Amino acid sequence: MTKEVVPIARGDGIGPEIMDASLHVLLEGGAAIEPQFIEIGEKVYRAGYTAGITDETWEIIRNHRAFYKAPITTPQGSGYKSLNVTIRKTLSLYANVRPAISYDPVIPSKHPGMDVVVIRENEEDLYAGIEHQQTPEVIQCLKLISRPGCERIVRYAFEYARAYGRKKITCMTKDNIMKLTDGLFHRVFDEIASEYPDIESEHWIVDIGIAKLADTPGNFDVVVIPNLYGDIVSDMTAQIAGSVGFAPGANIGDNHAMFEAIHGSAPRYAGQNLANPSGVLLSGIMMLIHIGQIEAAERIHNAWLKTLEDRVWTYDLVRKAKAASITSYTEVGTREFAEAVISRLGQKPEQLKAADYSKASFSFQKPKLTNVRHTEMRLDGVDVFINEGRLSGDELGRKLEQLAGPEFRLIMITNRGQRVYPGGFSETFCTDHWRCRFQVPEGANLPTPANTRDLLARLEQNQLEWIKLENLYLVDGKRGYSLGQGQ
Ligand code: NAD
Repeated sequence: MTKEVVPIARGDGIGPEIMDASLHVLLEGGAAIEPQFIEIGEKVYRAGYTAGITDETWEIIRNHRAFYKAPITTPQGSGYKSLNVTIRKTLSLYANVRPAISYDPVIPSKHPGMDVVVIRENEEDLYAGIEHQQTPEVIQCLKLISRPGCERIVRYAFEYARAYGRKKITCMTKDNIMKLTDGLFHRVFDEIASEYPDIESEHWIVDIGIAKLADTPGNFDVVVIPNLYGDIVSDMTAQIAGSVGFAPGANIGDNHAMFEAIHGSAPRYAGQNLANPSGVLLSGIMMLIHIGQIEAAERIHNAWLKTLEDRVWTYDLVRKAKAASITSYTEVGTREFAEAVISRLGQKPEQLKAADYSKASFSFQKPKLTNVRHTEMRLDGVDVFINEGRLSGDELGRKLEQLAGPEFRLIMITNRGQRVYPGGFSETFCTDHWRCRFQVPEGANLPTPANTRDLLARLEQNQLEWIKLENLYLVDGKRGYSLGQGQ
């Protein structure tokens, strides 16, 4: 087999030692890969690259389909951007796949039999990172959810379930509150689920869904979930399955993929030959599967399971064992753990379920996307956001009624989403940030952009500082904006 060149970042903190140990196991286990070491992270940040990566390194990563990465340290301070988020978004690695498996009865777990894969959307949502201070009191963060983004992640989840013989997919959103953004994610999930009748599908509101997942993970199989909720839930599943030191992750796109453990660089343990390399090693196994080296993946995975089963453990697992009053084990360091796995290559576990990738088909098709760019968007009104710290909701409302002009009618004013005009309550706390909704009077023509410009000019002439404008659209005739609370 010709060797596949794989860019490898040894990372910071415990990164170099767990990457070296993992790489040693992968190569001894028959992985046909040619490492090309690259430098990203702390040293690069400190050299003045605020993204933690140089242009030359980008070129190397872009030239290869798989990238294998140890954790890096993001220096404290607001000038540094998270390199992980940058890589995921720049290379469109839209699916973050995080299996969480308990290894009972070998490793004590609160949830014996747990075997859940969280498939987290990786590019959108509040991770767009678009934040603005709008008034002295109020800051906003934009939550962006797109139809192609939802379709890509949801279809990937169903294809993944089929390839890995999984039976059920649970979608979690908060669409009882965010009816348009999370509502789109849920709707796309329902649409795509109907194309996969062989896989059971269900939806939970994310708060109770996560509670159920933490309590009875055995009822879940694959979870597909928007970015922020997915970030939170996948750390939780990794932790309750056993240890964050175990948990691997794959970031998959149509042309590139990055493989890394979910834990960080644990600087306190750096250079002591203590850390558990399993998260990085299991990520490497996911990488081998991705690049079609199934046999090596299975051999290495089984040797790793046998090592656990033989109770050859790093300090983190020993600590868990002690807490569960287990006394028979061999405590080893990072390097010795790797040697123990290598010495078991060719063996299979007896108590734990052996890895079997023989039946899986891993040729994911590029998801076909619905073209919605021809959707009719007709302007139906405007929301004008105003910075105003002197007037009450009623006073502002009366002023704006006068300034609405013939083309517009003031429909309502909300403060942090709650309607405060007309008919606001004195109990409602108000900040200096007002959303003022203008729509056309009954029977009038729909507004034009020129009407909006005139309205904004009238506000400016009357010393009202508008800070943001949102167009209200009828999308194929349906309301494409939310109502205010209490509207
Ligand atoms: P962390 O995951 O590095 O460590 C938290 C704790 O988990 C450690 O103190 C240790 O007790 C345990 N732990 C983690 N990995 C372990 C392993 N392999 N073996 C045994 N025990 C392990 O989280 P942190 O301390 O919050 O973050 C440290 C640094 O890592 C920060 O600079 C952060 O930005 C960075 N980070 C990087 C990544 C990444 O590169 N993917 C992810 C998360 C955090």
